Amino acid sequence: MQTPWGFPDFDAHEALHLIHDEATGLRAIIAVHSTHLGPSAGGTRFWHYADDADALTDVLRLSRGMSYKNAMAGLPLGGGKAVILAGEDRHKTPGQLAAFGTAIDRLGGQYITAEDVGMTVADMIEIARKTRFVAGLPVAGGAVGGDPGPHTSLGVFLGIKAAVKRALGKDSLDGLHIALQGAGSVASGVALHAAAEGAKLTIADVDAARAQALATQVNGKVADPADILSLDADVVSPCALGAILTEQSIAALNTPIVAGGANNQLATPEDGERIHACGILYAPDYVINAGGMINVSTEYIRDGDASLVRRRIEAIPGRLEQIWVESASSGRNPAAVADATAQALIGRSSAAD
Ligand code: NAD
Repeated sequence: MQTPWGFPDFDAHEALHLIHDEATGLRAIIAVHSTHLGPSAGGTRFWHYADDADALTDVLRLSRGMSYKNAMAGLPLGGGKAVILAGEDRHKTPGQLAAFGTAIDRLGGQYITAEDVGMTVADMIEIARKTRFVAGLPVAGGAVGGDPGPHTSLGVFLGIKAAVKRALGKDSLDGLHIALQGAGSVASGVALHAAAEGAKLTIADVDAARAQALATQVNGKVADPADILSLDADVVSPCALGAILTEQSIAALNTPIVAGGANNQLATPEDGERIHACGILYAPDYVINAGGMINVSTEYIRDGDASLVRRRIEAIPGRLEQIWVESASSGRNPAAVADATAQALIGRSSAAD
């Protein structure tokens, strides 16, 4: 199937909305990949991109990943994603967030947002002044809501344990070395869970102070961001940005397991095959990192409480195991197995395939 627009990442998207608010200077893109299983849902990323083409590629890749993530997690949601294009000063104003909320509202529920990189619970509150199609909002009294980050971290931690069980035959992370890329919201939760089980952590972040603060907290070490993926480790856990698994970085991997929370870790589908051919167990990103979206979905749809969220997150390791079992029996790499399963659930195949 040919992609209908002149850029390959458009894939099978239903709609792409380019937003400009003259009064506040807001520039944002909302990508709706699929509403087959429900309204499209996925976080908003606030990021300074080198150019508009980079932003477009990012939002399209992330949006498709959300369709796959939500389908694989069994959520009644389609996939979408938004990016707000930050200026050089990386500053956002309440006015811009309000304008962004208005833009979401105009879509009438086609797209539901929440936090992603660079966005906070406070930002969701600003957006919610203009639209009800938003989650990740603060809640009181043990209700489901708030920052999805800790829920993502829990799912990634449980997924790492499943990978360790499968590849190394161990039930605990005690004494294992985890190389963690990133020291932000998801990475710090993963580090805390893993350290509590006795794992040794090496952490790298382009924000060196952030890496150092997390390393101090978990009694770990800091590495140069340029080296983190090639360290000799039991697990490499990418928890920063996407497209970090390339032909070059895969050749330098020195680990039996890659399992982390970052979205779109594979630069290209071929990289899923490359990592598999190296005998490295890969946890497909949108399966292992679904915990935050599970929380967002439960908050938005109001179909459960915190204990149900936990049970839904605890289903992530079993889903990964199914993928690895099918990969082992078919010979296809885990990323390809996950994509095919997600596409079947969504009921349409990808234009990129
Ligand atoms: P965050 O902004 O809190 O943290 C990201 C961190 O990565 C920052 O500290 C940043 O300095 C660092 N970083 C950026 N480039 C780096 C590099 N090249 N090397 C090392 N560090 C680098 O974001 P987050 O919420 O923790 O999200 C991390 C990843 O997880 C993203 O890919 C995001 O899309 C994905 N994710 C997040 C959630 C969630 O609930 N927050 C859910 C699913 C997936």
